[in-house]
Amino acid sequence: MPEYYSGNVVDNHRDAIEEASTAIETDLFIGGKFRQSEGGDYFETVDPTVKEPIAEIARGQKTDVDAAVSAAADAADEWGDTVPPERQEVLRELAERIEDNVEEFTLLESLDSGKPLDVARGEVERAAEFLDYYAGVCRSIEGKQLPYDSDALIYTRREPYGVVGQIIPWNFPLVMVAYKLGPALATGNTVVMKPAEQTPLTALRLAREAQDVVPDGVFNVVTGFGEEAGQPLTEHPEVRKLAFTGETTTGHAIMKSAAERAVPVTLELGGKSPFIVFPDGDLDVAVESVAGVMYYNTGQSCDAPSRVFVHDDVREEFMEKFIERTHEEVVGDPLREGTTMGPLASEAQFDKVTSYLDVGRDEGATVETGGGIPESEDTEHGYFVEPTVFAEAQNDFRIAQEEIFGPVETVISWSDYDEMIRQANDTEFGLAAGMATNDVSLANQTAEKLEAGNVWVNKYATLPPGTPFGGYKQSGIGREHTRETLLAYTRCKTVDIDTTHSPM
Ligand code: ADP
Repeated sequence: MPEYYSGNVVDNHRDAIEEASTAIETDLFIGGKFRQSEGGDYFETVDPTVKEPIAEIARGQKTDVDAAVSAAADAADEWGDTVPPERQEVLRELAERIEDNVEEFTLLESLDSGKPLDVARGEVERAAEFLDYYAGVCRSIEGKQLPYDSDALIYTRREPYGVVGQIIPWNFPLVMVAYKLGPALATGNTVVMKPAEQTPLTALRLAREAQDVVPDGVFNVVTGFGEEAGQPLTEHPEVRKLAFTGETTTGHAIMKSAAERAVPVTLELGGKSPFIVFPDGDLDVAVESVAGVMYYNTGQSCDAPSRVFVHDDVREEFMEKFIERTHEEVVGDPLREGTTMGPLASEAQFDKVTSYLDVGRDEGATVETGGGIPESEDTEHGYFVEPTVFAEAQNDFRIAQEEIFGPVETVISWSDYDEMIRQANDTEFGLAAGMATNDVSLANQTAEKLEAGNVWVNKYATLPPGTPFGGYKQSGIGREHTRETLLAYTRCKTVDIDTTHSPM
Protein backbone atom coordinates (compact mmCIF):
# COMPACT_ATOMS: atom_id res chain seq x y z
CA MET A 1 0.00 0.00 0.00
CA PRO A 2 1.58 3.32 -1.00
CA GLU A 3 1.81 6.20 1.42
CA TYR A 4 -0.85 8.88 1.22
CA TYR A 5 -0.04 10.37 4.56
CA SER A 6 2.00 13.36 3.53
CA GLY A 7 0.85 16.51 1.85
CA ASN A 8 -2.58 18.00 2.15
CA VAL A 9 -5.74 15.98 2.18
CA VAL A 10 -6.89 16.98 -1.30
CA ASP A 11 -3.57 15.97 -2.88
CA ASN A 12 -3.57 12.75 -0.85
CA HIS A 13 -6.95 11.84 -2.22
CA ARG A 14 -6.21 12.80 -5.80
CA ASP A 15 -3.14 10.56 -5.65
CA ALA A 16 -5.14 7.76 -4.08
CA ILE A 17 -7.92 8.03 -6.69
CA GLU A 18 -5.27 7.86 -9.40
CA GLU A 19 -3.75 4.82 -7.69
CA ALA A 20 -7.16 3.15 -7.44
CA SER A 21 -8.16 3.84 -11.02
CA THR A 22 -7.01 0.47 -12.38
CA ALA A 23 -9.27 -1.26 -9.86
CA ILE A 24 -12.35 0.65 -10.91
CA GLU A 25 -15.05 -0.83 -13.11
CA THR A 26 -17.69 1.64 -14.20
CA ASP A 27 -20.19 -0.42 -16.20
CA LEU A 28 -23.07 -2.72 -15.41
CA PHE A 29 -22.22 -6.39 -14.99
CA ILE A 30 -24.77 -8.48 -16.87
CA GLY A 31 -24.48 -12.07 -18.08
CA GLY A 32 -20.78 -12.18 -17.22
CA LYS A 33 -19.90 -9.03 -19.18
CA PHE A 34 -19.42 -5.38 -18.35
CA ARG A 35 -21.59 -3.15 -20.49
CA GLN A 36 -22.95 0.37 -20.62
CA SER A 37 -26.49 1.11 -19.57
CA GLU A 38 -28.84 1.09 -22.52
CA GLY A 39 -29.30 4.86 -22.28
CA GLY A 40 -25.54 5.36 -22.00
CA ASP A 41 -25.89 7.60 -18.93
CA TYR A 42 -23.48 7.80 -16.03
CA PHE A 43 -23.46 9.30 -12.53
CA GLU A 44 -20.62 10.36 -10.27
CA THR A 45 -19.55 8.49 -7.20
CA VAL A 46 -17.96 11.00 -4.84
CA ASP A 47 -15.16 10.79 -2.28
CA PRO A 48 -16.81 12.21 0.88
CA THR A 49 -13.49 13.29 2.41
CA VAL A 50 -12.81 15.86 -0.31
CA LYS A 51 -16.15 15.98 -2.21
CA GLU A 52 -14.39 15.11 -5.48
CA PRO A 53 -15.64 12.59 -8.03
CA ILE A 54 -13.88 9.23 -8.05
CA ALA A 55 -15.47 7.83 -11.20
CA GLU A 56 -18.50 7.95 -13.49
CA ILE A 57 -20.66 4.90 -12.99
CA ALA A 58 -23.30 3.46 -15.34
CA ARG A 59 -26.75 4.74 -14.48
CA GLY A 60 -28.92 1.63 -14.79
CA GLN A 61 -32.57 1.91 -15.81
CA LYS A 62 -35.52 -0.44 -16.11
CA THR A 63 -34.33 -1.80 -19.48
CA ASP A 64 -30.98 -2.69 -17.89
CA VAL A 65 -32.74 -4.41 -15.01
CA ASP A 66 -34.79 -6.34 -17.58
CA ALA A 67 -31.57 -7.43 -19.32
CA ALA A 68 -29.97 -8.47 -16.02
CA VAL A 69 -33.03 -10.42 -14.87
CA SER A 70 -33.18 -12.11 -18.25
CA ALA A 71 -29.49 -13.13 -17.95
CA ALA A 72 -30.13 -14.38 -14.41
CA ALA A 73 -33.19 -16.33 -15.55
CA ASP A 74 -31.21 -17.94 -18.40
CA ALA A 75 -28.58 -19.08 -15.90
CA ALA A 76 -31.04 -20.22 -13.23
CA ASP A 77 -31.74 -23.79 -14.36
CA GLU A 78 -28.14 -24.85 -14.75
CA TRP A 79 -26.98 -23.16 -11.53
CA GLY A 80 -30.04 -24.47 -9.67
CA ASP A 81 -29.10 -28.01 -10.74
CA THR A 82 -25.59 -27.82 -9.26
CA VAL A 83 -24.96 -29.71 -6.04
CA PRO A 84 -23.69 -28.02 -2.86
CA PRO A 85 -20.05 -29.11 -3.27
CA GLU A 86 -19.92 -27.30 -6.62
CA ARG A 87 -21.44 -24.16 -5.18
CA GLN A 88 -19.15 -24.40 -2.20
CA GLU A 89 -16.15 -24.34 -4.54
CA VAL A 90 -17.42 -21.21 -6.31
CA LEU A 91 -18.12 -19.35 -3.07
CA ARG A 92 -14.79 -20.36 -1.61
CA GLU A 93 -12.93 -19.18 -4.68
CA LEU A 94 -14.78 -15.88 -4.66
CA ALA A 95 -13.74 -15.42 -1.01
CA GLU A 96 -10.15 -16.20 -1.97
CA ARG A 97 -10.26 -13.64 -4.76
CA ILE A 98 -11.18 -10.99 -2.18
CA GLU A 99 -8.38 -12.16 0.12
CA ASP A 100 -5.89 -12.05 -2.77
CA ASN A 101 -6.85 -8.43 -3.54
CA VAL A 102 -7.47 -7.09 -0.04
CA GLU A 103 -5.54 -3.87 -0.54
CA GLU A 104 -7.30 -2.95 -3.77
CA PHE A 105 -10.71 -3.55 -2.26
CA THR A 106 -9.66 -1.66 0.87
CA LEU A 107 -8.62 1.46 -0.97
CA LEU A 108 -11.77 1.50 -3.10
CA GLU A 109 -13.98 1.02 -0.04
CA SER A 110 -12.19 3.73 1.89
CA LEU A 111 -12.32 6.29 -0.91
CA ASP A 112 -15.95 5.58 -1.77
CA SER A 113 -17.36 5.57 1.77
CA GLY A 114 -14.89 7.56 3.89
CA LYS A 115 -13.95 4.62 6.13
CA PRO A 116 -10.46 4.72 7.65
CA LEU A 117 -8.20 2.24 5.85
CA ASP A 118 -7.98 -0.12 8.84
CA VAL A 119 -11.74 -0.18 9.15
CA ALA A 120 -12.19 -0.76 5.44
CA ARG A 121 -9.59 -3.54 5.49
CA GLY A 122 -11.35 -5.26 8.39
CA GLU A 123 -14.62 -5.17 6.47
CA VAL A 124 -13.08 -6.47 3.26
CA GLU A 125 -11.72 -9.40 5.26
CA ARG A 126 -15.12 -9.86 6.85
CA ALA A 127 -16.74 -10.02 3.42
CA ALA A 128 -14.38 -12.85 2.46
CA GLU A 129 -15.07 -14.57 5.78
CA PHE A 130 -18.82 -14.48 5.16
CA LEU A 131 -18.55 -15.90 1.65
CA ASP A 132 -16.40 -18.63 3.13
CA TYR A 133 -19.01 -19.26 5.84
CA TYR A 134 -21.72 -19.69 3.23
CA ALA A 135 -19.40 -21.93 1.23
CA GLY A 136 -19.24 -24.22 4.26
CA VAL A 137 -22.83 -24.06 5.42
CA CYS A 138 -24.26 -24.77 1.96
CA ARG A 139 -23.27 -28.39 2.59
CA SER A 140 -25.95 -28.51 5.28
CA ILE A 141 -28.86 -28.07 2.86
CA GLU A 142 -31.09 -31.11 3.17
CA GLY A 143 -34.65 -32.36 2.97
CA LYS A 144 -36.59 -34.64 5.29
CA GLN A 145 -38.20 -38.03 5.04
CA LEU A 146 -41.61 -37.98 6.73
CA PRO A 147 -42.84 -41.24 8.25
CA TYR A 148 -46.59 -40.55 8.25
CA ASP A 149 -47.86 -43.16 5.80
CA SER A 150 -46.48 -46.71 5.68
CA ASP A 151 -47.54 -47.04 2.02
CA ALA A 152 -45.76 -43.92 0.93
CA LEU A 153 -42.35 -42.38 0.58
CA ILE A 154 -42.84 -38.78 1.60
CA TYR A 155 -39.89 -36.43 1.47
CA THR A 156 -39.11 -32.75 1.15
CA ARG A 157 -36.70 -30.93 -1.10
CA ARG A 158 -35.34 -27.40 -0.58
CA GLU A 159 -35.33 -25.76 -4.01
CA PRO A 160 -34.03 -22.36 -5.09
CA TYR A 161 -36.42 -19.59 -6.10
CA GLY A 162 -34.61 -18.87 -9.34
CA VAL A 163 -33.86 -15.16 -9.77
CA VAL A 164 -33.34 -13.19 -6.56
CA GLY A 165 -33.27 -9.37 -6.42
CA GLN A 166 -30.98 -7.84 -3.79
CA ILE A 167 -30.75 -4.14 -2.93
CA ILE A 168 -28.06 -2.95 -0.57
CA PRO A 169 -27.06 0.28 1.20
CA TRP A 170 -23.91 2.37 1.36
CA ASN A 171 -22.82 1.97 4.99
CA PHE A 172 -21.09 -1.43 4.59
CA PRO A 173 -20.79 -1.79 0.82
CA LEU A 174 -18.73 -4.95 0.28
CA VAL A 175 -19.82 -6.65 3.49
CA MET A 176 -23.43 -6.24 2.38
CA VAL A 177 -22.63 -7.86 -0.96
CA ALA A 178 -21.27 -10.88 0.92
CA TYR A 179 -24.20 -11.01 3.37
CA LYS A 180 -26.63 -11.13 0.48
CA LEU A 181 -24.77 -12.99 -2.25
CA GLY A 182 -23.52 -15.76 0.06
CA PRO A 183 -26.86 -17.35 0.99
CA ALA A 184 -28.39 -16.73 -2.46
CA LEU A 185 -25.63 -18.53 -4.35
CA ALA A 186 -25.23 -21.21 -1.67
CA THR A 187 -28.84 -22.25 -2.26
CA GLY A 188 -28.64 -22.29 -6.07
CA ASN A 189 -30.34 -18.98 -6.88
CA THR A 190 -29.10 -16.46 -9.43
CA VAL A 191 -28.78 -12.83 -8.39
CA VAL A 192 -29.39 -9.34 -9.69
CA MET A 193 -27.84 -6.94 -7.20
CA LYS A 194 -28.34 -3.19 -6.96
CA PRO A 195 -25.57 -1.55 -4.92
CA ALA A 196 -26.12 1.86 -3.34
CA GLU A 197 -25.52 4.78 -5.68
CA GLN A 198 -23.13 6.34 -3.14
CA THR A 199 -20.78 3.34 -2.97
CA PRO A 200 -20.83 1.08 -6.05
CA LEU A 201 -17.09 0.49 -6.46
CA THR A 202 -16.40 -2.66 -4.45
CA ALA A 203 -19.44 -4.55 -5.78
CA LEU A 204 -18.20 -3.83 -9.31
CA ARG A 205 -14.66 -4.82 -8.36
CA LEU A 206 -16.00 -8.12 -7.06
CA ALA A 207 -17.87 -8.57 -10.34
CA ARG A 208 -14.49 -8.44 -12.10
CA GLU A 209 -13.36 -11.42 -10.01
CA ALA A 210 -16.70 -13.15 -10.49
CA GLN A 211 -16.12 -13.09 -14.23
CA ASP A 212 -13.53 -15.88 -13.79
CA VAL A 213 -15.21 -17.71 -10.94
CA VAL A 214 -19.01 -17.57 -11.20
CA PRO A 215 -20.85 -18.90 -14.29
CA ASP A 216 -22.17 -16.14 -16.56
CA GLY A 217 -25.51 -14.72 -15.46
CA VAL A 218 -25.40 -16.18 -11.95
CA PHE A 219 -24.30 -12.86 -10.41
CA ASN A 220 -25.32 -9.58 -12.07
CA VAL A 221 -24.79 -6.04 -10.84
CA VAL A 222 -26.96 -3.12 -11.92
CA THR A 223 -25.70 0.17 -10.53
CA GLY A 224 -27.89 3.26 -10.37
CA PHE A 225 -30.47 5.04 -8.27
CA GLY A 226 -33.24 3.63 -6.11
CA GLU A 227 -36.22 4.66 -8.16
CA GLU A 228 -34.56 4.10 -11.54
CA ALA A 229 -32.82 0.78 -10.97
CA GLY A 230 -33.98 -0.49 -7.56
CA GLN A 231 -37.71 -0.16 -8.00
CA PRO A 232 -37.88 -1.95 -11.40
CA LEU A 233 -36.00 -4.82 -9.78
CA THR A 234 -38.61 -5.07 -7.01
CA GLU A 235 -41.40 -4.99 -9.63
CA HIS A 236 -39.97 -7.45 -12.12
CA PRO A 237 -42.29 -10.43 -12.63
CA GLU A 238 -39.43 -12.93 -12.95
CA VAL A 239 -37.83 -11.94 -9.63
CA ARG A 240 -39.13 -14.53 -7.16
CA LYS A 241 -37.47 -13.37 -3.96
CA LEU A 242 -36.26 -10.00 -2.69
CA ALA A 243 -33.75 -9.05 -0.03
CA PHE A 244 -33.10 -5.50 1.08
CA THR A 245 -31.08 -3.62 3.66
CA GLY A 246 -31.69 0.09 4.16
CA GLU A 247 -34.11 2.59 5.55
CA THR A 248 -37.39 1.46 7.04
CA THR A 249 -39.46 3.66 4.70
CA THR A 250 -37.71 2.14 1.64
CA GLY A 251 -38.38 -1.29 3.16
CA HIS A 252 -42.09 -0.48 3.23
CA ALA A 253 -42.00 0.47 -0.48
CA ILE A 254 -40.16 -2.73 -1.37
CA MET A 255 -42.61 -4.83 0.61
CA LYS A 256 -45.52 -3.18 -1.23
CA SER A 257 -43.95 -4.01 -4.60
CA ALA A 258 -43.34 -7.56 -3.44
CA ALA A 259 -46.94 -7.87 -2.24
CA GLU A 260 -48.23 -7.39 -5.79
CA ARG A 261 -46.73 -10.75 -6.73
CA ALA A 262 -46.64 -12.40 -3.27
CA VAL A 263 -42.85 -12.40 -3.40
CA PRO A 264 -41.15 -13.15 -0.06
CA VAL A 265 -38.87 -10.46 1.36
CA THR A 266 -35.95 -10.40 3.73
CA LEU A 267 -35.64 -6.92 5.21
CA GLU A 268 -32.93 -5.50 7.43
CA LEU A 269 -34.02 -1.98 8.32
CA GLY A 270 -33.37 0.80 10.79
CA GLY A 271 -32.74 0.79 14.51
CA LYS A 272 -32.59 2.92 17.63
CA SER A 273 -31.02 0.38 19.88
CA PRO A 274 -30.80 0.80 23.66
CA PHE A 275 -27.79 0.01 25.81
CA ILE A 276 -28.56 -0.31 29.52
CA VAL A 277 -25.94 0.51 32.13
CA PHE A 278 -26.83 -1.19 35.41
CA PRO A 279 -25.38 0.12 38.66
CA ASP A 280 -23.32 -3.06 39.17
CA GLY A 281 -21.98 -3.02 35.60
CA ASP A 282 -18.32 -2.58 34.76
CA LEU A 283 -18.29 0.99 33.48
CA ASP A 284 -15.19 0.56 31.36
CA VAL A 285 -16.87 -2.34 29.60
CA ALA A 286 -20.04 -0.28 29.20
CA VAL A 287 -18.17 2.70 27.78
CA GLU A 288 -16.17 0.64 25.29
CA SER A 289 -19.19 -1.42 24.24
CA VAL A 290 -21.14 1.72 23.42
CA ALA A 291 -18.41 3.98 22.03
CA GLY A 292 -16.70 1.21 20.11
CA VAL A 293 -19.82 0.74 17.98
CA MET A 294 -21.40 4.19 18.17
CA TYR A 295 -18.33 5.85 16.68
CA TYR A 296 -17.31 2.99 14.41
CA ASN A 297 -18.07 3.86 10.78
CA THR A 298 -18.94 7.40 11.90
CA GLY A 299 -22.08 6.08 13.57
CA GLN A 300 -23.52 4.80 10.30
CA SER A 301 -24.55 1.35 11.53
CA CYS A 302 -28.15 0.23 11.79
CA ASP A 303 -27.45 -1.60 15.05
CA ALA A 304 -25.54 1.27 16.74
CA PRO A 305 -26.42 1.60 20.45
CA SER A 306 -27.76 5.12 19.99
CA ARG A 307 -29.74 5.34 23.22
CA VAL A 308 -27.84 4.73 26.43
CA PHE A 309 -29.92 4.22 29.58
CA VAL A 310 -27.62 4.94 32.52
CA HIS A 311 -28.66 4.25 36.10
CA ASP A 312 -28.66 7.38 38.27
CA ASP A 313 -26.16 5.87 40.73
CA VAL A 314 -23.43 5.60 38.12
CA ARG A 315 -24.46 8.38 35.81
CA GLU A 316 -21.75 10.85 36.70
CA GLU A 317 -18.92 8.36 36.55
CA PHE A 318 -20.20 6.87 33.30
CA MET A 319 -20.49 10.30 31.67
CA GLU A 320 -16.98 11.24 32.68
CA LYS A 321 -15.52 8.06 31.22
CA PHE A 322 -17.71 8.20 28.14
CA ILE A 323 -16.71 11.75 27.29
CA GLU A 324 -13.06 10.92 27.86
CA ARG A 325 -13.44 7.97 25.46
CA THR A 326 -15.23 10.18 22.94
CA HIS A 327 -12.27 12.55 22.96
CA GLU A 328 -10.00 9.66 21.98
CA GLU A 329 -11.65 9.46 18.57
CA VAL A 330 -9.29 10.75 15.91
CA VAL A 331 -11.44 12.47 13.28
CA GLY A 332 -9.63 13.07 10.03
CA ASP A 333 -8.39 11.83 6.69
CA PRO A 334 -9.35 8.13 6.34
CA LEU A 335 -6.08 7.57 4.47
CA ARG A 336 -3.98 8.87 7.35
CA GLU A 337 -2.67 6.28 9.77
CA GLY A 338 -4.26 6.61 13.19
CA THR A 339 -7.53 8.11 12.01
CA THR A 340 -10.44 6.34 13.71
CA MET A 341 -13.33 8.34 12.29
CA GLY A 342 -13.74 9.56 8.75
CA PRO A 343 -16.45 11.72 7.22
CA LEU A 344 -20.10 10.81 6.82
CA ALA A 345 -20.62 8.99 3.54
CA SER A 346 -22.53 11.64 1.59
CA GLU A 347 -23.89 15.15 1.51
CA ALA A 348 -27.41 13.90 2.26
CA GLN A 349 -26.08 12.13 5.34
CA PHE A 350 -24.17 15.23 6.43
CA ASP A 351 -27.31 17.39 6.11
CA LYS A 352 -29.34 14.86 8.06
CA VAL A 353 -26.89 14.42 10.94
CA THR A 354 -26.15 18.12 11.35
CA SER A 355 -29.87 18.90 11.37
CA TYR A 356 -30.27 16.50 14.31
CA LEU A 357 -27.58 18.38 16.21
CA ASP A 358 -29.97 21.35 16.11
CA VAL A 359 -32.98 19.21 16.92
CA GLY A 360 -31.29 17.87 20.06
CA ARG A 361 -30.42 21.33 21.32
CA ASP A 362 -33.90 22.65 20.55
CA GLU A 363 -35.47 19.77 22.44
CA GLY A 364 -33.49 20.68 25.55
CA ALA A 365 -30.83 17.98 25.64
CA THR A 366 -27.41 19.16 26.82
CA VAL A 367 -24.40 18.83 24.54
CA GLU A 368 -21.72 17.19 26.71
CA THR A 369 -19.16 17.15 23.95
CA GLY A 370 -19.05 17.71 20.19
CA GLY A 371 -22.17 19.11 18.60
CA GLY A 372 -20.51 20.74 15.62
CA ILE A 373 -18.20 20.37 12.68
CA PRO A 374 -14.52 19.70 13.36
CA GLU A 375 -12.10 22.31 12.17
CA SER A 376 -8.83 21.03 10.81
CA GLU A 377 -6.97 20.88 7.53
CA ASP A 378 -7.96 17.23 7.18
CA THR A 379 -11.66 17.85 7.64
CA GLU A 380 -12.37 21.20 6.00
CA HIS A 381 -13.11 19.73 2.55
CA GLY A 382 -15.42 16.88 3.54
CA TYR A 383 -18.62 15.76 5.26
CA PHE A 384 -17.23 15.62 8.78
CA VAL A 385 -19.08 15.99 12.06
CA GLU A 386 -17.82 15.81 15.62
CA PRO A 387 -18.62 12.80 17.75
CA THR A 388 -21.39 14.15 19.90
CA VAL A 389 -22.94 13.23 23.24
CA PHE A 390 -26.37 14.53 24.20
CA ALA A 391 -27.33 14.08 27.86
CA GLU A 392 -30.40 14.80 29.92
CA ALA A 393 -32.53 13.53 27.08
CA GLN A 394 -36.00 12.04 27.39
CA ASN A 395 -36.98 8.92 25.51
CA ASP A 396 -39.73 10.77 23.67
CA PHE A 397 -37.30 13.33 22.21
CA ARG A 398 -36.83 13.04 18.46
CA ILE A 399 -33.10 12.40 19.02
CA ALA A 400 -34.14 9.33 21.04
CA GLN A 401 -36.80 8.09 18.63
CA GLU A 402 -35.46 8.78 15.14
CA GLU A 403 -32.51 7.14 13.49
CA ILE A 404 -29.78 9.80 13.11
CA PHE A 405 -27.20 7.48 11.54
CA GLY A 406 -24.22 9.51 12.69
CA PRO A 407 -21.84 9.60 15.67
CA VAL A 408 -24.44 11.08 17.97
CA GLU A 409 -25.15 9.42 21.32
CA THR A 410 -28.29 10.14 23.33
CA VAL A 411 -27.98 9.49 27.06
CA ILE A 412 -31.08 8.94 29.20
CA SER A 413 -31.02 8.48 32.99
CA TRP A 414 -33.09 5.88 34.81
CA SER A 415 -33.83 4.67 38.34
CA ASP A 416 -36.91 2.45 38.07
CA TYR A 417 -36.27 -0.88 36.28
CA ASP A 418 -39.77 -1.46 34.91
CA GLU A 419 -40.04 2.08 33.59
CA MET A 420 -36.59 1.84 32.01
CA ILE A 421 -37.56 -1.41 30.22
CA ARG A 422 -40.79 0.20 29.05
CA GLN A 423 -38.84 3.10 27.58
CA ALA A 424 -36.15 0.90 26.07
CA ASN A 425 -38.91 -0.90 24.16
CA ASP A 426 -40.84 2.26 23.42
CA THR A 427 -39.65 2.75 19.84
CA GLU A 428 -40.89 1.58 16.47
CA PHE A 429 -37.60 -0.26 15.99
CA GLY A 430 -36.31 -3.46 17.55
CA LEU A 431 -33.01 -4.34 15.96
CA ALA A 432 -30.58 -4.75 18.83
CA ALA A 433 -29.91 -3.99 22.48
CA GLY A 434 -27.10 -4.27 24.97
CA MET A 435 -26.37 -4.03 28.65
CA ALA A 436 -23.56 -3.95 31.17
CA THR A 437 -24.14 -5.94 34.36
CA ASN A 438 -22.36 -8.65 36.35
CA ASP A 439 -25.62 -10.19 37.51
CA VAL A 440 -26.35 -13.15 35.25
CA SER A 441 -29.97 -13.53 36.38
CA LEU A 442 -30.63 -9.87 35.74
CA ALA A 443 -28.99 -10.18 32.32
CA ASN A 444 -31.18 -13.13 31.36
CA GLN A 445 -34.32 -11.52 32.69
CA THR A 446 -33.59 -8.27 30.86
CA ALA A 447 -32.64 -10.00 27.62
CA GLU A 448 -36.02 -11.72 27.71
CA LYS A 449 -37.89 -8.45 28.21
CA LEU A 450 -36.13 -6.48 25.47
CA GLU A 451 -37.87 -6.35 22.10
CA ALA A 452 -34.83 -6.81 19.89
CA GLY A 453 -33.45 -9.44 17.55
CA ASN A 454 -29.97 -9.31 19.09
CA VAL A 455 -29.04 -8.66 22.72
CA TRP A 456 -25.46 -8.39 23.91
CA VAL A 457 -24.27 -8.51 27.52
CA ASN A 458 -21.01 -6.79 28.48
CA LYS A 459 -20.18 -6.41 24.79
CA TYR A 460 -21.88 -5.07 21.72
CA ALA A 461 -22.37 -5.95 18.06
CA THR A 462 -20.07 -8.94 17.88
CA LEU A 463 -21.55 -10.77 14.93
CA PRO A 464 -19.42 -13.71 13.90
CA PRO A 465 -20.70 -15.63 10.86
CA GLY A 466 -23.27 -18.17 11.98
CA THR A 467 -25.00 -15.98 14.56
CA PRO A 468 -28.49 -14.84 13.48
CA PHE A 469 -28.93 -11.12 12.91
CA GLY A 470 -32.19 -9.28 12.26
CA GLY A 471 -34.88 -7.14 13.76
CA TYR A 472 -38.13 -7.16 15.68
CA LYS A 473 -40.93 -4.73 14.81
CA GLN A 474 -40.01 -2.19 12.10
CA SER A 475 -36.37 -3.23 12.10
CA GLY A 476 -37.06 -6.01 9.67
CA ILE A 477 -38.09 -9.47 8.65
CA GLY A 478 -35.91 -12.57 8.62
CA ARG A 479 -32.51 -13.49 9.98
CA GLU A 480 -29.24 -13.18 8.12
CA HIS A 481 -25.68 -14.46 8.72
CA THR A 482 -26.80 -17.93 9.68
CA ARG A 483 -27.86 -21.36 8.49
CA GLU A 484 -31.47 -20.29 8.96
CA THR A 485 -30.91 -17.74 6.19
CA LEU A 486 -30.71 -20.60 3.71
CA LEU A 487 -34.36 -21.39 4.42
CA ALA A 488 -35.33 -17.88 3.30
CA TYR A 489 -33.63 -18.50 -0.05
CA THR A 490 -35.26 -21.87 -0.71
CA ARG A 491 -38.76 -23.17 -1.21
CA CYS A 492 -39.93 -26.42 0.30
CA LYS A 493 -41.38 -29.03 -2.02
CA THR A 494 -43.08 -32.11 -0.56
CA VAL A 495 -43.00 -35.25 -2.69
CA ASP A 496 -45.37 -38.08 -1.75
CA ILE A 497 -45.03 -41.40 -3.60
CA ASP A 498 -47.38 -44.38 -3.29
CA THR A 499 -44.89 -47.19 -2.70
CA THR A 500 -47.45 -49.96 -3.20
CA HIS A 501 -47.75 -49.05 -6.88
CA SER A 502 -44.16 -48.22 -7.58
CA PRO A 503 -41.31 -50.68 -8.02
CA MET A 504 -39.11 -48.78 -5.54
P1 ADP B 1 -30.51 5.80 2.24
O1 ADP B 1 -31.62 6.81 2.12
O2 ADP B 1 -29.84 5.87 3.53
O3 ADP B 1 -29.60 5.81 1.06
P2 ADP B 1 -32.17 3.77 1.26
O4 ADP B 1 -33.02 2.80 1.99
O5 ADP B 1 -32.89 4.84 0.50
O6 ADP B 1 -31.18 4.38 2.29
O7 ADP B 1 -31.20 3.05 0.24
C1 ADP B 1 -30.78 1.72 0.33
C2 ADP B 1 -30.80 1.10 -1.05
O8 ADP B 1 -32.13 1.09 -1.54
C3 ADP B 1 -29.98 1.85 -2.10
O9 ADP B 1 -29.37 0.90 -2.96
C4 ADP B 1 -31.04 2.66 -2.84
O10 ADP B 1 -30.68 3.01 -4.15
C5 ADP B 1 -32.20 1.68 -2.83
N1 ADP B 1 -33.54 2.29 -2.99
C6 ADP B 1 -33.95 3.51 -2.58
N2 ADP B 1 -35.25 3.70 -2.89
C7 ADP B 1 -35.68 2.57 -3.49
C8 ADP B 1 -36.94 2.13 -4.03
N3 ADP B 1 -38.01 2.90 -4.01
N4 ADP B 1 -37.02 0.89 -4.56
C9 ADP B 1 -35.93 0.08 -4.58
N5 ADP B 1 -34.73 0.43 -4.09
C10 ADP B 1 -34.59 1.65 -3.55
